[in-house]
Amino acid sequence: MKKIILLILIGLPLSAFSANDVLVNEVSEQYVKLVLALGVHDSAYVDAYYGPKEWRQAANDKKISLESIDKASAHLVKFVTGMTDEDPLKQLRLDYLRIQLSSLNARSKMLKGDTKYDFDQQSKALYDTEAPHNKLKDFDRVLTELDKMLVGEQPLSEKVDSFKKQFVIPKDKLKAVFDVAIDACRERTQQFVDLLENENFKLEFVENKPWSGYNWYQGNAFSLIQVNVELPIHVSRAIDLGCHEGYPGHHTYNALLEANLAKKQGWKEFSVYALFSPQSLIAEGSANYGIEMAFPGDEKMIFERDVLFPMIGIDQKLAASYQKFNQLTARLNYAGNEIARLYLDGKIDKQASVELLQKYTLTSAKKSAQRVDFWDTYGAYVINYNWGKDMVKQWVESGPDQSLEGRWKRFATLLSTPRLPSNLN
Ligand SMILES: [Zn+2]
Repeated sequence: MKKIILLILIGLPLSAFSANDVLVNEVSEQYVKLVLALGVHDSAYVDAYYGPKEWRQAANDKKISLESIDKASAHLVKFVTGMTDEDPLKQLRLDYLRIQLSSLNARSKMLKGDTKYDFDQQSKALYDTEAPHNKLKDFDRVLTELDKMLVGEQPLSEKVDSFKKQFVIPKDKLKAVFDVAIDACRERTQQFVDLLENENFKLEFVENKPWSGYNWYQGNAFSLIQVNVELPIHVSRAIDLGCHEGYPGHHTYNALLEANLAKKQGWKEFSVYALFSPQSLIAEGSANYGIEMAFPGDEKMIFERDVLFPMIGIDQKLAASYQKFNQLTARLNYAGNEIARLYLDGKIDKQASVELLQKYTLTSAKKSAQRVDFWDTYGAYVINYNWGKDMVKQWVESGPDQSLEGRWKRFATLLSTPRLPSNLN
């Protein structure tokens, strides 16, 4: 850091310096220390850290003020802006540091409370992108289709509830169903991606959390995967969660970044994962797109019908209508963003949000309230799931080789390199 401070103090134009590994490594180290420093003010900010223990201890001891974090990160953003490297991977690294630092700077301003961000400004500042806008009434067509699909004269929400009830995994079968689903996700991923020999995870069922599943990456290719079982878990969640949290989702992404960038290249910025940062859009987007990478076309439906339904005692004849139901409700996904935007911009209150979520995403009052709690904790983070997935999908499917192998190759590249939303255009 001394060299950088020196350059800034003596007022030399920073762009006059070409990137070199020593300087970039110093920026990297400062970035990690600033993430840890911000984590002291924001307990959810450091999602994973497996760098030197002393750095975390130092951050806790020093308790650097938000004002200092704001200033230091702004300096570092200026410093890396304009640096270039002919090596494409190193250029991606420079972009990564600049964009992550800029997001960290915005987060520090947000926590200081002197800068207010609306939903879209927050998305841009923290996640390096802005999600598309939709009109809630445009989702009425999907509701009409669902209403036609489900028999009965009751209101749609009641028909949805009774349809979904058929697919709940009994609590005593959760472990067995999840074990089988995660194994299948791993098996399909490892056909195309070199998983690390020592990679492993532990699965736990928990309650009273604002999320439905979480991967706590611990370093050395090990994850703690938690599934929130407070509300009923439907059978389609088994594959979704197995892929999202495990293979080829978060566990795989974190392990590949650690192995390829933190360990092999010695790039310390990949020993930490800042939750409210552009990296989360890639993480959530690839984790969600990973479901259709591992189970393309009808394969998820076939696997559920042939393997999971019999374990739970669900009639296999229901598989096709369950798939259609899930495809239709997935189209309601972006309605959730619109409601989150209205809520977080202060235009509607919690009760109105719960009612709109019930209507437009067809979730129960309890599940809807859980989602509003999630927004209270995580703000505009919600865009990372659906918009992130669409950005990743678009990037993978614009590659030159669209065979299954070709798409996996491009997907694995995304999981092993420092790409952020701006690099997906
Ligand atoms: Zn996730």
